[in-house]
Amino acid sequence: MADDIPVRIRPEIAALPPYRQGKPAGEDGFKLSSNENPFDPLPGVIEAMSEANAVNRYPDASARRLRERLAARYGVEPDEVHIGAGSVSILSQLILAAAGPGDEVVYAWRSFEAYPGLVRVAGATPVEVPLTADARHDLPAMAARVNERTRVIIVCSPNNPTGTVVGHDEFAAFLDTVPSDVLVILDEAYAEFVTQPGAVDGLRVLGLLGRPNVVALRTFSKAFGLAGLRIGYAIGHRRVLDAARSTAIPLAVTGQAESAALASLAAESALLERVRQLANRRDRIVAGLRESGWRVPEAQGNFVWLPTGAETSDLAEAFDSEGLIVRSFPGDGIRISVGEEESVDKVLRIAASVVQALPEGHSARGLA
Ligand SMILES: *Cc1c(COP(=O)(O)O)cnc(C)c1O
Repeated sequence: MADDIPVRIRPEIAALPPYRQGKPAGEDGFKLSSNENPFDPLPGVIEAMSEANAVNRYPDASARRLRERLAARYGVEPDEVHIGAGSVSILSQLILAAAGPGDEVVYAWRSFEAYPGLVRVAGATPVEVPLTADARHDLPAMAARVNERTRVIIVCSPNNPTGTVVGHDEFAAFLDTVPSDVLVILDEAYAEFVTQPGAVDGLRVLGLLGRPNVVALRTFSKAFGLAGLRIGYAIGHRRVLDAARSTAIPLAVTGQAESAALASLAAESALLERVRQLANRRDRIVAGLRESGWRVPEAQGNFVWLPTGAETSDLAEAFDSEGLIVRSFPGDGIRISVGEEESVDKVLRIAASVVQALPEGHSARGLA
């Protein structure tokens, strides 16, 4: 009783689990729970933030400089780019713009934790389509759930938390089955880490297939290491992005964040070198996990997925107690971000002992 909400709240909102952030890592521990970039910002980024922006002034509402820069980079028009305070806020804007009570939003599950809440907040109904046994999007099954109530489909590639990608060809074939007036959001928060040939690339989809119902979402939070500044972007049809601009909270993107994003783009080759290091580190972790007897899906983001199923909560304890903060999804699995080089041995050592604790015949155990 003591925990009742003292005012009247929409029932679907009251039913949502309250947001609780993961705990910070201890002294000699590592925080591998939020897919953050372990590198400090490049030289010049911090300076650029403070130089051009008076804190007593409001920012440029549409982040025009950054839109122009991204438009030039991707060969689109500036009004085909939309900037938000993190790509999650753009996701929210698009869902609010397209789906309301009685409408359905289709996405894979398990996928990004934010999806169900954002759909509920819009008053719409989530339609969750289980991943395949190898933790990939089941696009035919998703297509089968599309009906006249469907307003939005979200495809997350690489998928958070399982790390798998959708292929370009399968995505193109999927789009052929979807009504052309249904908004398809391709959430590519980890696009820069993808090394698998043939993986979907939103910019290529937009250019090649010319699909006005597809919006690609990208962020400066992961590969670019600006998670704390909250800045991300969408590329898509001007009129679709206008709808997102209409549901956005005005002036949420600070001038500091815009300047940091511009400075990061100016140093993109140095940043992408770091991204290559992280992708190599990821591949080493996956190889090490498989060697020690794990069966893990292909990892294409800056994280790896242990499909521990019913054993998840018990096994996550083993990482926690050794100072590795990982993200566990009870009943499904454990996601471990690719962090500092010094964390790699520790991750592999604990994982190698944890795999022994899995029951014989568990699907996360390889044949080794
Ligand atoms: C991290 C993440 C985002 C982006 O987060 P922002 O910090 O809001 O840009 C979007 N989608 C997925 C799947 C993510 O993992």
